[in-house]
Amino acid sequence: MHVQTLKTHSRIEMIDITGSVREIVKKSGVKSGFCVVYVPHTTAAVTINENADSSVKRDIISKLSQLIPENDNYTHLEGNSDAHVKSSLVGVNVVIPVDSGDLVLGTWQGIYFCEFDGPRTRKFVVQIVGD
Ligand code: ZN
Repeated sequence: MHVQTLKTHSRIEMIDITGSVREIVKKSGVKSGFCVVYVPHTTAAVTINENADSSVKRDIISKLSQLIPENDNYTHLEGNSDAHVKSSLVGVNVVIPVDSGDLVLGTWQGIYFCEFDGPRTRKFVVQIVGD
């Protein structure tokens, strides 16, 4: 299991982690199997989406913020309920096939760490299963 630390810089942000996940897969020596990327936080998430046009990232963030506003009739006293809801909706894990020792991703796909209550120091976990 690999634990990677990253720093986020805004309250809401999507950070491309494809390069570091790919490096961990290559170093593992696993040729065929699965790569699980998992986020051990309740106000962050991980997703796979377009890595070519950064306006997709901006649209995802702005639509999520519109659907789940920061201030609403929430009861959670910590004041970050929107971030908890966003984390559950987006999800805290992705599974990517590994073939020929590399991630099987589409041409336009990237793996994104999603910060919903930053800036903070965060972690994600990469677990590779296979041989
Ligand atoms: Zn909270």
